[in-house]
Amino acid sequence: MSSHQPEDRVAERRSDRHHVVVIGSGFGGLFGTSALKRADVDVTMIAKTTHHLFQPLLYQVATGILSEGEIAPPTREILARQKNAQVLLGEVTGIDLEAQTVTSHVLGRETVHSYDSLIVAAGAGQSYFGNDHFAVYAPGMKSIDDALELRGRIFGAFELAELGASRGENVDHLLTFVVVGAGPTGVEMAGQIAELAHRTLKRDFRAINTRTARVVLVDAAPQVLPPFGARLGDWTKRGLERLGVEVMLGAMVTDVDERGLTVKFKDDRVERVDAVTKVWAAGVQASPLARTLAEQTGAPLDRSGRIGVNPDLTLPGHPEVFVVGDMISLDNLPGVAQVAIQGAKYAAKEIQGRLHGKPAQKPFKYFDKGSMATISRFKAVAVIGKVRLTGFVAWLMWLAVHLVYITGFKNRVSALGHWFVSFLGRGRSERTATEQQIFARTALAMLDRGATDLVSAPGEYDAAAELARREELEANAAEEVRLTDSHVRGVKV
Ligand SMILES: Cc1cc2nc3c(=O)[nH]c(=O)nc-3n(C[C@H](O)[C@H](O)[C@H](O)COP(=O)(O)OP(=O)(O)OC[C@H]3O[C@@H](n4cnc5c(N)ncnc54)[C@H](O)[C@@H]3O)c2cc1C
Repeated sequence: MSSHQPEDRVAERRSDRHHVVVIGSGFGGLFGTSALKRADVDVTMIAKTTHHLFQPLLYQVATGILSEGEIAPPTREILARQKNAQVLLGEVTGIDLEAQTVTSHVLGRETVHSYDSLIVAAGAGQSYFGNDHFAVYAPGMKSIDDALELRGRIFGAFELAELGASRGENVDHLLTFVVVGAGPTGVEMAGQIAELAHRTLKRDFRAINTRTARVVLVDAAPQVLPPFGARLGDWTKRGLERLGVEVMLGAMVTDVDERGLTVKFKDDRVERVDAVTKVWAAGVQASPLARTLAEQTGAPLDRSGRIGVNPDLTLPGHPEVFVVGDMISLDNLPGVAQVAIQGAKYAAKEIQGRLHGKPAQKPFKYFDKGSMATISRFKAVAVIGKVRLTGFVAWLMWLAVHLVYITGFKNRVSALGHWFVSFLGRGRSERTATEQQIFARTALAMLDRGATDLVSAPGEYDAAAELARREELEANAAEEVRLTDSHVRGVKV
């Protein structure tokens, strides 16, 4: 590993205009940037992925219904027509509120960006409630990497079961799938794995009967979908059970390993479930940037690491910094897309208003447009204000809402085509999974500096040294050949 430390590079401002830096290309980042389209400002969006991810449909990528491109279009393409916006790849590692700078990294390149206004929308990651080592055995559902890894593991488990059964082995642990967390993501995931096993794959294998697969949904809470209320929770539980999902409630996961997991019930009963494929859809932890901001402002952090913000979404003592979406703790707002979208639009409007000398807006008020979750094809639950919907009507609503929110016309058309294949037919268009998708993340984690170890940082590449190294390697190889050919080492062929 090189000891070379890359120099800080300060990004040049594009003009004298007010400069807004936006961190994140998720719902908050994208909608905040778009809302500044007509403003007399330059916007720099910095995000650690090059795409805008539509997280609510990740489970469909994991279960082979949609392709990753359909739910994660390039942010650069979405914003191509917005002339005042520049998109930069980079993981933000530091925010200096006094100096008004943001520092980002990508593969050893460090860049410092100055700002006049800042919108922080870095979202949240998976929480394993202090048991981060579970992640290796039970990936979460937060990124495209997660979804593709899970796709590989789910379809791979059926493959290994077919092989094992052909050799006369017991494959129950391969045909058991456990989803931890009975919120909307866990319910949708469990429902889709059950449909996959009982419907999609039932004719594809010879040695195993995929319909005997066991799908288990585990949660420490006493009901599924707690925010939807007891009646819809109960309806959903019965719907899942009819699909063949085993619902284990009041069951806390105490250990996860390669071959399965252990759960402990309220009455202290302990049960072991042998399952190679586990999915973690249980908890969230706000971006570590929330802590950076809290340390500099004294703003409180809640148990999920979310930062307490002022009623206008700014940080105490820093009216130029807005924090939106999953990172904030304000009035018990839920971690949903609409909170991020509405918060980001509010921040963008405030920035524009200030430039025009307008008085400050009223405090941010979230307008709840409702929540929904699908159980299986044609079956969903929805809550809109006081209205509770179940079954086909709720599913049609789910379909319409998701079609509207998927980004880009071509993605909408192709998602609709894939849904047609999966829901009216039995097929799944996106079953491709490679070994690399399943194992490359672990391989990268074994490198000291991750992907950075695979590329040279700027200024690190020394052509003369590289040539000398190559000559030395060639000389060594020639010497090896000579030793082998002269019988000093090995056998002469
Ligand atoms: C599986 C799943 C299903 C969901 N289903 C629903 C649903 O059905 N309905 C609903 O309303 N909500 C749903 N949600 C929640 C919803 O997706 C989030 O509330 C929403 O995405 C929050 O938006 P955000 O902008 O705060 O964060 P995100 O959308 O998560 O965006 C965060 C962005 O910040 C970037 N980023 C993070 N850290 C850094 C860094 N250090 N430097 C640079 N960039 C960084 C990320 O790459 C990303 O672009 C779901 C979430 C998940 C995970």
